[in-house]
Amino acid sequence: MPLYGYHCASCADDVELLIGSSETPVCPNCGGKRLTRLMSRTAAPGKSRGIIKAARSQAAREGHLSNFSRAERRR
Ligand SMILES: [Zn+2]
Repeated sequence: MPLYGYHCASCADDVELLIGSSETPVCPNCGGKRLTRLMSRTAAPGKSRGIIKAARSQAAREGHLSNFSRAERRR
């Protein structure tokens, strides 16, 4: 099964999960299901942390932390 990176909107952590196509990802930290698939599989930790941090602060400014798109993450 593929390993995917997810961002959890409930606990604001990033997790990597093995997910089949029919499965719903669940956060291993808090059990939440508000997970957003990150762009690349297993991005380098330092790099993805930076991207996510930027996306998070942007989303926080705009007030929709749990609901931003992948395109918005790139800015
Ligand atoms: Zn979580």
